[in-house]
Amino acid sequence: MIIIMKPDASEEQVAHVTERLKKHGFGVHLSKGAERTVIGAIGDKSAIQLETIQMLPGVSEIVPIRKPYKLVSREFQPAAELAKRGGANVLRGGAFKPRTSPYAFQGLGEQGLKFMAQAREKTGLPFVTEVMDTRDVDLVARYADMLQIGARNMANFNLLKEVGKTKKPILLKRGPGSTIQEWLMSAEYILSEGNSQVVLCERGIRTFETATRNTLDLNAVPVVKKLTHLPIIVDPSHGTGEWDLVPAMAKAGIAAGADGLMIEVHPRPDEAMSDGAQSLKAETFSKLMAELKLVAKAVGRTL
Ligand code: PEP
Ligand code: MN
Repeated sequence: MIIIMKPDASEEQVAHVTERLKKHGFGVHLSKGAERTVIGAIGDKSAIQLETIQMLPGVSEIVPIRKPYKLVSREFQPAAELAKRGGANVLRGGAFKPRTSPYAFQGLGEQGLKFMAQAREKTGLPFVTEVMDTRDVDLVARYADMLQIGARNMANFNLLKEVGKTKKPILLKRGPGSTIQEWLMSAEYILSEGNSQVVLCERGIRTFETATRNTLDLNAVPVVKKLTHLPIIVDPSHGTGEWDLVPAMAKAGIAAGADGLMIEVHPRPDEAMSDGAQSLKAETFSKLMAELKLVAKAVGRTL
């Protein structure tokens, strides 16, 4: 777990928390930032009552880290197999994660890329993963079959130019506050560098609606089809944020003419390091894939 101290916590207060943790058998790692001190504690959480730590003077917040590394080392493999069994033909996982909070799990970096390469070997499926920084483009391109530009980076023009110089296909997600026109201009940046292999991904936009994580703009599918030759896929997982809404919007995406879907799966969503609430378990995913075949057939497409 991580114990975040208040900005005005004194040295004594930090020392007091540290001692208490050590007394209960925790390994302690201090990180002193300009603003505040953060204490990393490794050990058995059941050996201590968290409330007693939370109550100590100077403590702001306790962030539990559930089973770090488990998702990717042990869980990504089953997730990849689950996806393959269900009929997926590309894997997607995050090694560099764009998290809203700096305290949330940030991904495993190169180690995560290695795990995904292992999953590719095991399943025979290619994988796509996000690159967030121009400095990481070469590294990620060395491992991945396709590079993802995440929603938050859709208008990061330097990054777009950099991936435009690679020979890897690019998955370009729509920015949460971007118009279709702006999204296509971002694709234009990539193509103008010589890389014409761009796939667009509608993942929901920010509206006044708060009932769902985002508002999946399925209008974008036929509009994009009208305006460009680029393929478009739909991400109903980020588009809704809730697993039980995913099947309906996945089917709607295919019916609207999408060329593919990006769907989050996890063998045990409640243990996921990221986005468990929108991840499908094996049975739901397989059932959905069977239904999608029927929808595709009904609209004259195959899956
Ligand atoms: C993702 O696909 O892993 C992701 C972070 O999505 P988005 O960029 O759409 O939020
Ligand atoms: Mn996600």
